Amino acid sequence: MKKVAIFGSTGSIGTQALSLISSNPRRVKATVLTCKSRVDVLRSQISRFRPEAVVVYHKENAVELRREFRDLKVFYGPDGLEEAAATMNYDVMLNALVGIAGLAPTLCAIKRGGASIALANKESLVTGGRLVMSAAAEKNVPVIPVDSEHSAVFQCLVGNQDNPIRRILLTASGGPFRGYDRARLGSVTLNDALIHPTWRMGRKITIDSATLINKGFEVIEAKWLFDVDASNIEVAIHPQSIIHSLVEFEDGAMLAQLGVSDMKVPISYALSWPERWATDTRTLDVIGTRSLYFEEPVGEARRSLDMAYRVLREIQETEGDSSAVVLNSADEELVEMFLAGKIPFVAILDTIETILDKHIPRKVESIEDIMGIDAEARAAVHERLL
Ligand code: NAD
Ligand code: MG
Repeated sequence: MKKVAIFGSTGSIGTQALSLISSNPRRVKATVLTCKSRVDVLRSQISRFRPEAVVVYHKENAVELRREFRDLKVFYGPDGLEEAAATMNYDVMLNALVGIAGLAPTLCAIKRGGASIALANKESLVTGGRLVMSAAAEKNVPVIPVDSEHSAVFQCLVGNQDNPIRRILLTASGGPFRGYDRARLGSVTLNDALIHPTWRMGRKITIDSATLINKGFEVIEAKWLFDVDASNIEVAIHPQSIIHSLVEFEDGAMLAQLGVSDMKVPISYALSWPERWATDTRTLDVIGTRSLYFEEPVGEARRSLDMAYRVLREIQETEGDSSAVVLNSADEELVEMFLAGKIPFVAILDTIETILDKHIPRKVESIEDIMGIDAEARAAVHERLL
C-alpha cells in the first residue's frame, strides 16, 4: 500500500488525485491532506479518506478540527506544512500547492528522504530549481513531474535515461487569446481570461496560461528536471492539446506522449510510477482527430517565452538564479491583483518586464535568499502599481 501525502488536497490537482485514490483503495492511501481556505471541503475529505494528519492555514481552523477529529494530527500555517512534510508518514508527496508556498514543503520532503516527490507545484522548480534538484540528487529522491508536458517528457525518457537528448519540444495550447495582438489583449476581461480552451485548472495557472507565462515557467521547469541547456528546449503551439510534448534523441528519433487532455493521466503516473494503474480516462479518438496541428509562437505569444529564455541565459551564464524568482513572484503578485479586478490583463506582462529590466541577477544559496528576493519582487510590483 503506497502512502501519499497530498499537499493542496482541495485544489484542482488535489481533488483529482483523491478521485484516483478512491478508485485504487487497495493500492494507495492518503495519509496527509492540506488546504488553505476550503476547510469544509477538507472536512469531508477527512471523513472520507481518514488521513493521519492535516494542515490548514489558520490556527482557528486547526483548533476546530482538533475538537472534531480526536485522533487526527492537525498542523497549521506555513510552518505546519513544513512540519508535516518533515515528520509524517508517506511514500510519495504529491505537491499540488500553488505558488512559492510549495517550495519549503518540497525541500523538507527531499531532506527528510525516503519518499518520492510527485511535483505539480512548478513554482518549486522555477524559484528553487538548483536547490531542489541538487538536494534530490544528494538524497537519491526521485522527482516525478505532474505537469502534463513534463510528465510526457518523463514518460518518453523511460528506458532512455542515459541517451543524450538533442531537443525537448514542449507543446502549448496557446490559451484563450491565441492569435490576439496587443490592441485586442487591451480589452480582454477577467472572465475571458478564466476560460481555458482545453484544460480546467486552478485560477492562477489559468491566468498564467492566458499570458503564456505558464509556458515560460515550464521551459525553466524542464531545464531543471531534465538537466538540458535552454538552447535545446523549444515550444510549439498545439491548440488541440493532444501531443503533450516530444523528445528528440541524437539519432533523430522523436518520441511523443499523447492522449486526451485529462490531468488524471499524469497525476496517476506520478503516483503509480514505475507501474501504470487503470484510470477512467477517455480513449483518444485517433481517426476522428484526423490531423494534428502545430504553429510557431510569434508576436504576443513570444513575450513570456522571451522573458523565460532571458532568465535562463542569466542562470546558465552567471548562475544568477534570482531572476527566476523575480519572474515568478512578480507574476504571483500581479495575477492576484488581476484576479481581484485591480489591474488590466496587459499590466501583468508589462510590469514583470519592467521589473526584470531593473533587476540585477545574483546567486541564490538558500531558501532564505529566495524568500528575500520573493519579497523584493512583490514590493517592486506595489511600488510600480499602487
Ligand atoms: P488550485 O488553486 O486549484 O489548488 C491549490 C491548492 O493549494 C489548494 O488546496 C489550496 O488550498 C492550497 N493553497 C493555495 N495557496 C496556499 C498557501 N499559501 N498555503 C497553503 N496552501 C495553499 O491549484 P491547481 O490548479 O491545483 O495547481 C496546483 C499546482 O499544480 C500549481 O503549481 C499549478 O501550476 C500546477 N499545475 C496544475 C495543473 C492543473 O490542471 N490544475 C496542471 C499543471 C500544473
Ligand atoms: Mg503544463
